[in-house]
Amino acid sequence: MRTGSFAVRLLVGFAALALLAVVMAVGGGWAERAAMAAWGQRASHVSELYSAGLESALAKYDYVPKTLALHPSVLDALRHPGDGARAATANQYLERLNAEAGAGDLYLLDPSGRVLAASNWRAPLSFVGMDLSYRPYFQDAARRGEGRFYGVGTTNGRPGYYFAVAIRDGDHVLGVAAAKVSLERIEERWAPGDERVFVADGLGVVILTSVPSWKFGMTAALSEPMWTTASLTRQYGAVTLKPLPVEEREDRGDGARVVALAENDAPTVAYLAHTRALPGTGWRMTILSPLDPFRQAGREAALVSGLGGVVLLLILLALAQRHAAFRQQMAAKAALQRANDVLEERVTARTAALCAAQAELIQKEKLAVLGQMAAGIVHELNQPLAALRMMIDNAAVFLRREQPDAVLDNLASSTRLVDRMGRITGPLRSFAHRSGDPVPCRIQSCAANALSFLDERIRRAGVRVDKAGIPDTLAVPGDPERLEQVLLNLFSNALDALAEREAPCLRVSAARVADRVVIEVQDNGPGIPPDVAARLFEPFFTTKPIGQGLGLGLVISAAIVGELGGTLRHQSETPEDGGGCVFTLDLPAADPIPLSTIKEPQCPTA
Ligand code: ADP
Repeated sequence: MRTGSFAVRLLVGFAALALLAVVMAVGGGWAERAAMAAWGQRASHVSELYSAGLESALAKYDYVPKTLALHPSVLDALRHPGDGARAATANQYLERLNAEAGAGDLYLLDPSGRVLAASNWRAPLSFVGMDLSYRPYFQDAARRGEGRFYGVGTTNGRPGYYFAVAIRDGDHVLGVAAAKVSLERIEERWAPGDERVFVADGLGVVILTSVPSWKFGMTAALSEPMWTTASLTRQYGAVTLKPLPVEEREDRGDGARVVALAENDAPTVAYLAHTRALPGTGWRMTILSPLDPFRQAGREAALVSGLGGVVLLLILLALAQRHAAFRQQMAAKAALQRANDVLEERVTARTAALCAAQAELIQKEKLAVLGQMAAGIVHELNQPLAALRMMIDNAAVFLRREQPDAVLDNLASSTRLVDRMGRITGPLRSFAHRSGDPVPCRIQSCAANALSFLDERIRRAGVRVDKAGIPDTLAVPGDPERLEQVLLNLFSNALDALAEREAPCLRVSAARVADRVVIEVQDNGPGIPPDVAARLFEPFFTTKPIGQGLGLGLVISAAIVGELGGTLRHQSETPEDGGGCVFTLDLPAADPIPLSTIKEPQCPTA
């Protein structure tokens, strides 16, 4: 069972980890893609901007050779190629125009490609006199009227862009006007941040770039014919081309791709690249952004997703735990309820058993008391029996003497004795039997019956009995014989206590208090000392000599009173305080008994 739940937990744990990994991968990938897509869009705009900048920079100088071609000094010099003065005038004009236009160099070539005049005529490395017929811009202009070319200067070794235009006289080409523009300024404005920019020409050679070490790098190997052309035109002058391998790694869509290349001798770096063609030039501009920040963004997003996932998992876990705790609580509650039910059943069963045992005990105690009482009754009956025997003998004598009156007297006395004996044995019956349904017990009758049983003892001890305090109609529900038994026991104890007391008095009174009836049995005996009082209701506790007391009277009485729904208490003055003792019975009240139904004499022994 435990192994099973452990395996399930392990499985759930692995599933949660797998889920977390998926969430991280998806979150990270998504963030990386989103960042790259945003960059792709931006790069497209930026390259558009750069290419527009380049175009406008070039366009700015486009007019220069055209303007130059129209000037009379230029035409004059071309028309008179050998004239040094005309060439000097043209030189000055070119110098002035170049200063105004801010171009790199301006020069004039004759139809054979030799420089007739140049703006830099004063410089030691002036173009004047140089043969530039091999340059494509010259050839294009001479052939088609216009030529453009990127190349490295053969004299000063500085790269530039060449604009050339043919100067015609009708169909005849007089010469070519050319302007060389430096593009270094444009490069300087590119990619101020982490981004890199390069422009590769038609041969794949990097001619413009924000990274100096990439300049003149070959992004692709030059084929033999390409190589030859480049050499013939001295396009790259004295510059040594070096390979700049661009390793294409991955196409990310939307024009963006991942490439790798190195700066100087540094290790290869991965970039996100965006390339666009620059119209009218055959060049291609590439904008590069290091890939690491995108990866970093992806990693951060993965981390955030992971954290989110963890938080989610924790919430789920907490919910699951709460659910489990709730279920446990419910189970515990149910278990408690079951335990409670079992306990209640046991308590009920035990209570029933105890009740049975108690009833049994009471019954046994009653039998024991019966035994004790039997001794007393035998003692009580002995004397009337002896008297009866004597009277019967006397009656026989009187009969023989034919004295019928005396016989009748004797018989009448005998009848009284038999009645008395009946009264003595009567209460015995109530001890042994179990009680039936409750009936109203008139307290006065019960007290009178109990007292009648003790008639002889009361008379002998000269005890004054006061039972005037019992209202005629007062009653309690129960079994009259049992109530009599309780009262008899209390009276009997009182008589015991009153033995050898001066002016012995037994007072019994009753009163209704709300729905209860309180009966008091009071004597002026010695009272009960505290040590005895503490044990009064203990079975077999007695202070009386053997044969006189069994110590069960109060136990049985209290049990009977309990059965009747009442209590038996005692208050006592200690012998030192002058004595006296009161036993109080507190019982439920029954409806008063109508006086008209009461037949028996109310105070038989009063
Ligand atoms: P028993 O009468 O057989 O001794 P009880 O249970 O009736 O048994 O009484 C227990 C004891 O309580 C008596 O032995 C006696 O010491 C004491 N007792 C009961 N009633 C009185 C009383 N009215 N005055 C003094 N002592 C009493």
